[in-house]
Amino acid sequence: PVILAIESSCDETSVAICNNGKITANVIANQTIHENYGGVIPELASRVHQQNIVPVIQQALIDANVDKKELNAVAFTRGPGLLGSLLVGVSFAKSFALALDLPLVAVNHMHAHILAHFIDEPKPAFPFLCLTVSGGHTQIVLVKDYFDMEIVGETLDDAAGEAFDKTAKILNLPYPGGPLIDKHAKLGNPLAFKFPEPQIKDLNYSFSGLKTAILYFIRKQEKENPDFISEHLNDICASVQYSIVHILLNKLRKAAKQYGIKEIAIAGGVSANSGLREALQKRAEESGWNVYIPAFEYCTDNAAMIAIAGYQKYLNGDFVEQDVAPISRMNF
Ligand code: ATP
Ligand code: MG
Ligand code: FE
Repeated sequence: PVILAIESSCDETSVAICNNGKITANVIANQTIHENYGGVIPELASRVHQQNIVPVIQQALIDANVDKKELNAVAFTRGPGLLGSLLVGVSFAKSFALALDLPLVAVNHMHAHILAHFIDEPKPAFPFLCLTVSGGHTQIVLVKDYFDMEIVGETLDDAAGEAFDKTAKILNLPYPGGPLIDKHAKLGNPLAFKFPEPQIKDLNYSFSGLKTAILYFIRKQEKENPDFISEHLNDICASVQYSIVHILLNKLRKAAKQYGIKEIAIAGGVSANSGLREALQKRAEESGWNVYIPAFEYCTDNAAMIAIAGYQKYLNGDFVEQDVAPISRMNF
């Protein structure tokens, strides 16, 4: 089957095409309008989605070299995400499918982040553990099958991506700050400054304490040296990244031990982080894990992951009707 997939849950408008499980187009339009606000402004995001959706669809059809008459289904992100953003993608998917008389496939965005591992080789074997680290979520997921997944640990407050982005905001870096912290971290000393590791039980995470610790540390330093941030930016970024990566991997190691699983994957925007990727590789060698790290373009939001999830649902005959609506806080 040839499946067209639409992703619009946050601030990326993306359309992909999947032909018998192979991705033949993955167009992503980023929104730069949020840079100066320190976060995504939902009302602005949905308006930009409306401007982008038609040209992005057209570009995807051109890239895949298919005519819309050759499509067999339309997949879309139903949730979780910003309601106004989701509405643009869902409404477009519904009208597009209605006009072309195609079946509709609804995809959970968090499932799709994990299923991005089934786009390219090597593919993880079930059951595997996936650490999903994104802008809105931090979850350790036990993946038993394509759609048989269980969250075994998650954040009790901020997501890992939020910890990166909020730290970047404290450091006066534009949104989203995660990639910028990564860039500066490469030039700094990860052991320059030490931040406390949260003491949370089970396989859960907490990142709000770290954010506060960083804020107070910077304020204190700035009292003595107003140029502290600019003079030590690389070391601060390297140290913050080191802390976040350590917190993430310690619980992942605990989960791997508890479930006796050596197939370990990471997913979501923060899996693009070079510190996390390196530390995971290193830990894999120490622990005998087989690790799966997505290609960069499939870490942050993209429609290729929606297409691959949609393809599996298509094979299962799992379709939705025209009365389907987006769900902002969609259950896992
Ligand atoms: P969710 O998937 O939870 O709904 P989202 O879709 O907004 O949230 P993603 O697009 O998967 O999240 O990821 C975006 C997040 O990834 C942002 O917080 C961004 O800062 C972070 N990020 C992207 N690249 C990097 C990087 N190299 N280092 C650290 N963080 C990064
Ligand atoms: Mg984004
Ligand atoms: Fe996402």
